[in-house]
Amino acid sequence: MSEIQVNGRHYRLPSQPSVVVCVDGCEPDYIAQAVAGGHMPWMKAVLANGTSTIADCVVPTFTNPNNLSIVTGAPPSVHGICGNYLYDTANDVEVMMNDPKWLRAPSLLAALADAGCKVAVVTAKDKLRKLLGHGMRGICFSSEKADQTTLAEHGIEGVVELVGMPVPDVYSAELSEFVFAAGVRLMQTRRPDVMYLSTTDYVQHKHAPGTPEANAFYAMIDRYLSELHVLGCAIAVTADHGMNAKVGLDASPDVIYLADVLDDWVGKGRARVILPITDPYVVHHGALGSYATIHLPADADSTVVKARLAAVRGIEAVYTRAEAAAHFELPPDRLGDLVVVSIRSVVLGSAAARHDLSGLDVPLRSHGGVSEQRVPLILNRRIADLEAGRRWRNFDAFDWVLNRG
Ligand SMILES: [Zn+2]
Repeated sequence: MSEIQVNGRHYRLPSQPSVVVCVDGCEPDYIAQAVAGGHMPWMKAVLANGTSTIADCVVPTFTNPNNLSIVTGAPPSVHGICGNYLYDTANDVEVMMNDPKWLRAPSLLAALADAGCKVAVVTAKDKLRKLLGHGMRGICFSSEKADQTTLAEHGIEGVVELVGMPVPDVYSAELSEFVFAAGVRLMQTRRPDVMYLSTTDYVQHKHAPGTPEANAFYAMIDRYLSELHVLGCAIAVTADHGMNAKVGLDASPDVIYLADVLDDWVGKGRARVILPITDPYVVHHGALGSYATIHLPADADSTVVKARLAAVRGIEAVYTRAEAAAHFELPPDRLGDLVVVSIRSVVLGSAAARHDLSGLDVPLRSHGGVSEQRVPLILNRRIADLEAGRRWRNFDAFDWVLNRG
């Protein structure tokens, strides 16, 4: 067998170690600024001699939907993960979407392992580990809990000793560095056929492209990627979403608190606003992003509410469930009655009283909207016939590295 089929797409089995890197929150400008400033020499050479484009990620431009799209090669309408957070209507409870029970499609990683490939996955935050590693034989662990790995659960033990770095704080640039350091050590010692590395956007939430902190972070990435390159890897680099400043003139978050707005329109506490950016790590964004979904009370006229919301300054678009499902390729049964997207500089909240913004020590940068859909898609190999005019997606990364690398 030299080829597998997953979620309707064909992939060649790797003939060289093949690595896909998801740089969390990598607005394309981070790479442009770092390359221009001389901080990414490896990347500069790849942009000149390999293949690169700006691709579209999945909306909502959040971490979980996009990581799952990358590893399934499919949009959320196929894999089912449409946010980090969900209102489970069947059980009338709001839950994190970290549990593999929400997955509706197999991953490429699992299929490649089943086809006999050695597969390794390293993710920064543990929240993604079970989704990425679902059904997969091989190595799968997070930097966050790198000191707790077991052969039975993670396919590897002694990770901290292997990597030679202490387990970093969950809010740190080092949490992502650990992912790359582990990737290089795995490639040196075990030479997986396929490896998926996924970082965290702690740096991007705090620092704009071209700042010293951002450039230092991308310089770090560049060093590790060049090591993987020297080890003979085909490497595709992409992102789960971009990142933009979301503040007014006074540097405070520019927020539309949807639940407060809806209280006045449909009755206090009767509409349910779900912010799918919500996860256990909200300190750096206060659970504020540019995408929300709204469950309306049965007696509310959704057409009227939709029109009123669309007229609110700062809101880019409002979709019905069916419209959003079709337009963004989302699972309709996991959306509210309405889906709201705000403009580039504006974020959406639920009720003002429910957001703790005390952890924001720098002006808010966040994501979630269409304004964060542009992401890099880069391969350190030349693709001869890159189809001109095609809308490439971040979830074409495995197609690039396996079929075109
Ligand atoms: Zn992310």
